[in-house]
Amino acid sequence: MIPEGFFYAGFRSGFSDFRHRPVLILPGGGMCRAGAMGRSMEDCGVKIVRVETVPVRPVRAASTAPAQRFFERPRLTPSSALFEIRDRQHADRQPVAELLVKVVTDDGLEGIGTAGAARGHAQFTIENHLRHIVLGQDPFNVELLWERMFRETVKYGRKGMAIEAISAIDIAIWDILGKAAGQPVFNLLGGRTRDTIRAYASALYPTGNLDDLGAEARGYIDQGFSAMKLRLGWGPADGTAGMRRNLELVRTVRQAAGPDIEVAADAHMGWNVSYAIRMIHLIEDAGFQLAWVEEPVMPDDIPGYARVAAEVDTPIAGGEHEFTRYGFRDLIAQRAVDIVQLDVNRAGGITEACKIWALAAAHDLPVIPHGGHMHNCHLIMSHLNSPMAEYFPPPPPGRAPDSNEMFWHIFTGEPKAERGRISLPDRPGLGIEVNWDFVGCPDHASTVSSEAR
Ligand SMILES: [Mg+2]
Repeated sequence: MIPEGFFYAGFRSGFSDFRHRPVLILPGGGMCRAGAMGRSMEDCGVKIVRVETVPVRPVRAASTAPAQRFFERPRLTPSSALFEIRDRQHADRQPVAELLVKVVTDDGLEGIGTAGAARGHAQFTIENHLRHIVLGQDPFNVELLWERMFRETVKYGRKGMAIEAISAIDIAIWDILGKAAGQPVFNLLGGRTRDTIRAYASALYPTGNLDDLGAEARGYIDQGFSAMKLRLGWGPADGTAGMRRNLELVRTVRQAAGPDIEVAADAHMGWNVSYAIRMIHLIEDAGFQLAWVEEPVMPDDIPGYARVAAEVDTPIAGGEHEFTRYGFRDLIAQRAVDIVQLDVNRAGGITEACKIWALAAAHDLPVIPHGGHMHNCHLIMSHLNSPMAEYFPPPPPGRAPDSNEMFWHIFTGEPKAERGRISLPDRPGLGIEVNWDFVGCPDHASTVSSEAR
């Protein structure tokens, strides 16, 4: 008997079997297994029985030039304000390029999640704390599981690695829920809001070779992209010469793209408030429109964000290094950003991301999440206030991927953009599989497994 107002997943998928019981999807995304209604939480019948963490090491360059581009070229980092470009140390080289988390149920369903930037640190938190919270629990109780993970890590968590660890487990659980329902995750979150997702090409790293930069921009237009993002390379310690070089980067891409292509620019936390205002005014006064400037100041300087946003005409984007609904509440309440750019596998996973998306919608703000992972696409597809996706083009054959591109090697099923748009398949769950031929290679990974006792 299907209660009135419930949607029976089997009607849509043609087949839904989770422990031989149909899954009921409530309007708005809630779910329940038929036959489980009225049962106690302890008598759930489905349990998480295994949590595995798989740190994936970076791919080393086979030869010199291309693979090391991420580190050789000038790049803004939070420390850029402290050092001139020649003195910058790239101390953010982590031994783990991606952390995979596999959650397994007693039914044999497997979900995969990833932890954003903390990776190895997130692995420690999962192995030593979070796994004790989720093992033996019903994955359908994802709201309660999220809140328990958050509250039980709050003494040392709140932002950063603990939230990234929670994010990875939460994303893996949603992958399981989709597979259990026989539905793509976006159908559990609100369904399709469009046929395909507009994507912007995210690359265009700073370089002294402006001809190459312009050619790269024209290449994305040839591929059909209608928007792209460049990285700015110089900050306060680089003086007026650095400002001029930032302007040259914008001029090169802006002129190569032409007037009908949106161009954004990323400062990656490398500026301060006064520099950001002067630099953006310089760009505006030169007549170059940008779709947004991203992360102009340090993420905790929310009043500084707000000052920049108030002073310039260019939209300000931020949130890539913000966490949970509480962090985004403050960012939004102080009018710090015009575009919300949460990173789903940092900010709290899919459960928390839905709340951040709703918060942004209530303030009429678009959400353009950071990162190229598939979990973003499911959230973008199911939310009307999400106009496009970030898209890191696959690295050309022979060049080792940087950390933003690793997912192309780690997963199969990640959709490639066609004419600048992404089509999402109807495969259950997130719709991707781990490429174990790559990940299982001893050069790249070593698995730690925790089982329920
Ligand atoms: Mg960014």
